[in-house]
Amino acid sequence: MTFQTSNRIAGLQPSDIRLMTRHCERIGGINLGQGIGDLPTPPLVREGAIKAILGGHNTYTPSEGILALRIAIAEKLQRDNALNVDPEKEIIISSGTTGAFAATLTAFLNPGDGVLLLEPYYGYHLNTILLSALEPQYVTLKAPEFSLNEESLRAAIRPNTRALVFCTPSNPSGKIFSKNELSIVDRVAKEHNLLVISDEIYEYITYDGHKHISPASVGELSERTVSIMGFSKTFSITGWRVGYAVAKASLANSINLVNDLLYVCAPAPLQHGVTAGLKAAPEYFQELRNAYQRKRDILCDGLEAVGLTPLIPQGAYYVLANIAHLDYPNAKAAALGLLERTGIASIPGSAFYQGSEGEGLIRFCFAKEDSVLRDAVERLRKLNL
Ligand code: PLP
Repeated sequence: MTFQTSNRIAGLQPSDIRLMTRHCERIGGINLGQGIGDLPTPPLVREGAIKAILGGHNTYTPSEGILALRIAIAEKLQRDNALNVDPEKEIIISSGTTGAFAATLTAFLNPGDGVLLLEPYYGYHLNTILLSALEPQYVTLKAPEFSLNEESLRAAIRPNTRALVFCTPSNPSGKIFSKNELSIVDRVAKEHNLLVISDEIYEYITYDGHKHISPASVGELSERTVSIMGFSKTFSITGWRVGYAVAKASLANSINLVNDLLYVCAPAPLQHGVTAGLKAAPEYFQELRNAYQRKRDILCDGLEAVGLTPLIPQGAYYVLANIAHLDYPNAKAAALGLLERTGIASIPGSAFYQGSEGEGLIRFCFAKEDSVLRDAVERLRKLNL
């Protein structure tokens, strides 16, 4: 017996990220495609979760998460994000940042509503928008600066546009949005009554003194912004699935309703683990930044040396590199060709754009051990460009 798949998944496909990972495994290459951080999880976080399991914290929590975690997050938001938030009413713990995002879309948007994405975008944002039967609309940010300008944002708005989604620091570009750019978002979103969803999962991974600014801390954006944050990258626990949404109480209430229906709650003992992690000393966050900055420099210096000019990221742990001068018809062919020739997997830039801008780019992830990155750079030398 066969069943027809739903209209909502028609046309959705596993991403190029999975495809490249499969090819990479087949040839035993180095996977700089997928964004899996492999720094060690801080003992504080691991032990907090183990203690919680042994202590019997294994049943459902409130759908919005345990209060101790929400209080710890509110303190962190005050300290690091200039956001003053009520832990009882304005924070919803979810199944990863991904869960918080899906719950937010479902809570506020109807099928056919338009959602603006700043491209290059994060593929899961696009696919979750499609899965929710929403209409993706695009504002292209031009490399190498990826600056947001007011005219292009305004020009992209359609009569059905209801929301704007972006990440800062950005996956894949590493762009960190400035106060000035966020003020543009504030102005335009107010004028068009847009919901703003800012994915800030890489907030602690920033370079060269660039500072992460939470959009909700700018102008009047807190009224209409859902800030989506999480622990996957900060504590290297991508498999734990703990993230959260921060929004004014009236918005958070609806997100919580959907969060309950979709996920019931985030994993109980792991919520305790990240609560313990949030007590980490400030040096932890500085060391995290230093470690990734070192990794960024190993890979970017290596890419520069072999002639794959990197667009140096300001944050997150990816780098887009130029491949337009190579003899390949498109980015996918280039990424596959590179994998065959050097054993290094990357992601074609076309995975992050609707238009053709991505065809001259590939993305590498540098959340790998230093020795793996050095080995990767050695292998890339074989290209002899
Ligand atoms: N948002 C962005 C921009 C990401 O790059 C990723 C993972 O790569 C996620 C969200 C996933 O977050 P989580 O593990 O909290 O669901």
